[in-house]
Amino acid sequence: MLKVAIIGSGPAGYYTAEGLLKQFGSGVEIDIIDRLPTPFGLIRNGVAPDHQSIKAVTRRYEATQIGGNVRFYGNVEIGDALGMDELRQLYHAVVLATGAPQDRPLGIPGDHKPGVIGAAAFVGWYNGHPDHANLNPPLDTEAVAIIGNGNVALDVARVLVKTPEEMAASDLTRHAAERIHDSPIRTIYVIGRRGPLQVHFTPKELGELGALAEAVPLVEPGQLPPEGAERYLDDPGLRKAVGHLRQFAQRRPEEGRRQIRFVFHARPQAVLGGNRAEGLRLERTRLDEAGQAVGTGEVFDLPAGLVISCIGYRTLSIPGVPFDNERGRFLNEDGVIAPGLYCVGWARRGPTGTIGTNRPDGFVIAEKIAAAKLSGERPGRAGLEALLRERDVWAVTFDDWKRIDAAEIARARIGAPREKFVSVEDMLGAAASGEGAE
Ligand code: NAP
Repeated sequence: MLKVAIIGSGPAGYYTAEGLLKQFGSGVEIDIIDRLPTPFGLIRNGVAPDHQSIKAVTRRYEATQIGGNVRFYGNVEIGDALGMDELRQLYHAVVLATGAPQDRPLGIPGDHKPGVIGAAAFVGWYNGHPDHANLNPPLDTEAVAIIGNGNVALDVARVLVKTPEEMAASDLTRHAAERIHDSPIRTIYVIGRRGPLQVHFTPKELGELGALAEAVPLVEPGQLPPEGAERYLDDPGLRKAVGHLRQFAQRRPEEGRRQIRFVFHARPQAVLGGNRAEGLRLERTRLDEAGQAVGTGEVFDLPAGLVISCIGYRTLSIPGVPFDNERGRFLNEDGVIAPGLYCVGWARRGPTGTIGTNRPDGFVIAEKIAAAKLSGERPGRAGLEALLRERDVWAVTFDDWKRIDAAEIARARIGAPREKFVSVEDMLGAAASGEGAE
């Protein structure tokens, strides 16, 4: 029997399990280990709370748990409860599917002032990630600067301006909903260091901003490329996104409605303010021959009591595992770190692609594990459970998670799918008591 441990229960982890089941059927034992008591990683803690249809993919991951020889071990932190070397002794293969939970640093003067927050922390806060539930972002401001032209920037802008009615069917956590819906925010700047033809936005996500109840997306017409320039772009999605930006350029500020102002060709230079963020100094840019932003020397300031950088993420390193510090992910060759040690998803390739991109990624790792013909006896699950017992670690099972899940659903406000527990203690309490379980 092949014994595999997958570290991380997000999309990359579950697709790898699916790929392994396809390769080995009943000949594989798979243990999915997560440091949180709740499974599904990015789906629960990263995907926007108003994008519930995307979250429905967890049903597919759940199916992996049933029938196959797959077990979930939540609340088990590698490096704390369990060493990496120990794990590698226990299993034929260890797959790191740990995602990229850390913010890429902004690296400009003033970026440590209170009020400058990375997307991992801010999104984690409104999504109820226990690491960020106590973030307390300064939402007592009329202007917010969001840095980056990717979908995370759009998620953050949208969640900040949607009305309580628009968020009614979301699982935005109560603590965040109260703060966001009470905030005096009037203007959100979405800042790109390059231009409209270089955005990473996908058209569906950008188009959503055009249909908000109480906010208007605005683009300065002069910031757009000449009419038709997008015709030469290879990516049809990008062509469509530019079309949305052209529509936004036709809109005008509307009395009483908040504004989402796109600012292109602007590179953050410094966070302004005294003992908290009060604004952002930007330098106008142009594109060089390689299509990269270069400064023109012209600077301008925007007001912002809250600066949220949505400029990409990094994987957390693990002692003893080779790490590419520049790229912020594990050093690997097509997912292989060392014999018997693999990485997958964002931990392998960095924070790019959609959730579905992780499926082929996971399947490739399963094929690589098959090709490696790993042999010999390994203790696997029995060894893991013995170690956890010895160290008095309460590993949360999938049934325990279903009790947490049921309790969250039971305490949801009317119309919402769930009200998440935002502390590990409360999650474990629900797992133990079965409160709200069927
Ligand atoms: P992203 O798509 O890579 O966008 C990052 C943005 O940050 C780019 O515009 C980049 O500009 C900019 N940037 C990087 N470093 C910067 C710096 N030092 N100063 C100023 N700007 C900087 O990343 P993301 O938005 O974090 O998204 C991560 C992945 O998750 C993406 O694949 C995304 O599509 C996916 N996602 C999907 C959804 C969805 O489908 N609904 C939602 C959220 C996230 P340059 O182009 O100049 O480098």
